[in-house]
Amino acid sequence: MALFGFLSADIAIDLGTANTLIYIKGKGIILNEPSIVAFDETTKKIIAVGHEAKQMHEKTHKGIKTIRPMGDGVIADFEIAEGMLRAFIKKVHSSIFPSSRVVICVPSGITEVEKRAVRDSAEHAGAKEVYLLAEPMAAAIGVGLDVSSPVGNMIIDIGGGTTEIAVISLSGIANGASIRVAGDELNIAIVEYFRKNYNILIGERTAEEIKCQVGSVMPLKEEVIIEVKGRDLVSGLPKMTEVSSIEIREALSDPVNQMIRAIKVALENTQPELASDILDRGIMLSGGGALIKGLDERIRLETNLPVHVAEDPLTAVVRGAGRVLEDLQKYSKVLIRSKKY
Ligand code: ADP
Ligand code: MG
Repeated sequence: MALFGFLSADIAIDLGTANTLIYIKGKGIILNEPSIVAFDETTKKIIAVGHEAKQMHEKTHKGIKTIRPMGDGVIADFEIAEGMLRAFIKKVHSSIFPSSRVVICVPSGITEVEKRAVRDSAEHAGAKEVYLLAEPMAAAIGVGLDVSSPVGNMIIDIGGGTTEIAVISLSGIANGASIRVAGDELNIAIVEYFRKNYNILIGERTAEEIKCQVGSVMPLKEEVIIEVKGRDLVSGLPKMTEVSSIEIREALSDPVNQMIRAIKVALENTQPELASDILDRGIMLSGGGALIKGLDERIRLETNLPVHVAEDPLTAVVRGAGRVLEDLQKYSKVLIRSKKY
């Protein structure tokens, strides 16, 4: 094996609920695809992963099923998740030789059992050494915060399944919270809004498009009207309706308020010295959810703190994991220590 060692590669993985990104040591990000799998329901054989599987999502027929195996932020379907990870690794790694070292990001609230599941998955997928890194820590490193200094930094990573809130100092998470209200809940809230107020059933993909295009949490400079297509719940027929960005904002208000509440609770639980650092330095937002229009402004208004949105928030976690991979020694303290089995 040692003879072929040069063929193996060290990689960092952000196995998100919505998107999986892979970074190869010395090369950078070489994969960025939705965490979706399409498989044959009878044989359980994986038919497609990533972009290809997303095309099929919600448009399948009996026999083919698509799922997002990372569910709420941790592995919901172990076998399928492992298959997906293996398929993604194969895409970036044409050789069959196993990767040596893998840094893999996990939600900060993960249990020992879940840590083990992630570790096992990565090992089955070919990793020789597995290092776990908390997502908010990865995001903080990815946006260039100095995580090792004795200064408090607050980072909020809003993904598909979870919102991770963390105060980081001295290479560790001083306090934090992980709530299962994030991008997916916003989509669900939009679906519900149409069902209740318009008697129209729309798909989650449509809801996501609406959220990304016109979703907001503060009044827009110019409110817009969009056309939305779905199925009329009374007649059963396809139907189109017009809706304003003001209504979409109303639809999003519940889950957004839950996020705001969680942020306030996390601030209340922050030690005074760290809190005073956050007062100076502000809050950093990352993850796809950071892109909702007006979220930074809303958090600023609610907390009276400076709020910044990370540059390219969707890649912050994998960029941080990549930095850790490039210098495992320097970053050894930030890795999650877990029991050896
Ligand atoms: P995860 O880490 O859980 O895979 P990501 O950080 O990749 O999640 O973010 C995915 C989430 O971000 C999805 O819920 C997606 O709808 C949302 N998202 C992506 N772009 C935007 C946007 N422009 N506006 C609002 N939400 C967005
Ligand atoms: Mg993420």
